[in-house]
Amino acid sequence: MTAHTVIDRLGGGQQAAEGVARSDAQATNSAANRKLYKPRVPIHPREQDGVYRKIKWAMMAVTLSIYYLIPWVRWDRGPDAPDQAVLVDFAHQRFYFFFIEIWPQEVYYITGLLILAAVSLFLVNALFGRLWCGYSCPQTVWTDLFIWVETKIEGDRNARIKLDAAPWTANKIVKRVSKHAIWLMFAVATGGAWVFYYNDAPTLLHQLLTGTASIGNYAFIGILAFTTYSLGGLMREQVCTYMCPWPRIQAAMSDKESLTVTYRSDRGEPRGAHKKGDPWEDRGSCIDCNQCVAACPMGIDIRDGAQLECINCGLCIDACDDVMKKIGQPARLIAYDTDANIQRRLKGEKTRFRFLRPRTMFYAAVLVIVSAVMLFTLATRRTIDMDVLRDRNPNYVTLADGAVRNGYTVKLLNLSSSARDFHLAVSGLKTREVKVIGLETDIMPAILHVPADKVRTVRVLVTVAKADLGTAGSRDITFTVTEPVHGQVRAVGQVFATGVAQ
Ligand code: SF4
Ligand code: SF4
Repeated sequence: MTAHTVIDRLGGGQQAAEGVARSDAQATNSAANRKLYKPRVPIHPREQDGVYRKIKWAMMAVTLSIYYLIPWVRWDRGPDAPDQAVLVDFAHQRFYFFFIEIWPQEVYYITGLLILAAVSLFLVNALFGRLWCGYSCPQTVWTDLFIWVETKIEGDRNARIKLDAAPWTANKIVKRVSKHAIWLMFAVATGGAWVFYYNDAPTLLHQLLTGTASIGNYAFIGILAFTTYSLGGLMREQVCTYMCPWPRIQAAMSDKESLTVTYRSDRGEPRGAHKKGDPWEDRGSCIDCNQCVAACPMGIDIRDGAQLECINCGLCIDACDDVMKKIGQPARLIAYDTDANIQRRLKGEKTRFRFLRPRTMFYAAVLVIVSAVMLFTLATRRTIDMDVLRDRNPNYVTLADGAVRNGYTVKLLNLSSSARDFHLAVSGLKTREVKVIGLETDIMPAILHVPADKVRTVRVLVTVAKADLGTAGSRDITFTVTEPVHGQVRAVGQVFATGVAQ
């Protein structure tokens, strides 16, 4: 029943009709609710060989190796620092990446890395379309791995479609249980590898195997195993189509000169079945065999043009190249190409790839500038730091002779992997005494030993004689810490409360 019919009945004031209309509307609504999402048609891509498939296998091997092996790479940082090359050390609030050590106050390096990653993605997208999605996105890599497992156990596309439709027999149960068991194994290994990134990997492995690891680690492995299993094994292409924002964003990053997987309609149309020996004149090279659709992990037909679902993986190119070889037609009816080239061909113009365009040059420039700034800041990075906090309660203490004393808490940060002596001094005001609690002497600069990669906190009492207080309620002073061996200096301005009434 249409909405208009329902409205007509209500407008007529017929009570009986009103009741029927309401129940019809409710039925329509509940049916609509039930169909809020289009039911998924399972996609069983055919196993495909070819150039792009080989590149995808290679990328899978590289990315999975990096992910699983990186926590096991060691990096010597001296006796007092962890020797794991990549480690997020939550307990000590540090991020180690080979020779780089990031402290919490240097989080801008992480921001810089994220900006670099985003701009690189924009640049690659503007040049080559969704290469990231097709070859190196974790969702693609794990989905590919899970489909490979499925193919090895249940067979290629047709066998899997047949198995889906078949009744539950012992054979089907064994195949399905085996598949899900291996998927779960990979899922647990994925979650397991993740927790090694924020723990010492050999120690944690021992703890995990002996059941002595923290509950948090087991929980994280469980959560990541569940997400890997469900996203890579069960939801697959739906994650890219419905959950990931990138397909929507990337459309704004590419233009008609971006290299994307394209069906060369100028060569393929008019399409149609072709018998051996039939002439090729007055028709296109596409024989409508649907092999490109069968190989597509997203279940789409690239001949329909650019689509949000297409991850630019190139498997349809491999599939069509096989067909073209068999029918004796030139390869690359489907190819990495640009919309602009299709138009140029239709106009009889020469095709070309325009890599240098305003948007690609802009992204490249941003990339170079951000990289240069990050390299410069890394190269000139200070490995000493200091925080100074003045006592507030009391704000100051007046001594018997009228002198005024302020107390400060000074934190000295040694951001290097070796112990160092820091020289601390106070300037900007004539002081009678600067006393570091715990030191025998009050000679300035005070020499303070700070162990490698540690923070040392000291209390400093600054006293100014009555005659030197001046007339203002507060005076500016400067705490300066120097590390003479590497010539590094850090100065922090502070206030000295004089207690003089205004
Ligand atoms: S594989 Fe090639 S020939 Fe076959 S339907 Fe696809 S585009 Fe046409
Ligand atoms: S249409 Fe081709 S390139 Fe796009 S997802 Fe399918 S197989 Fe990959």
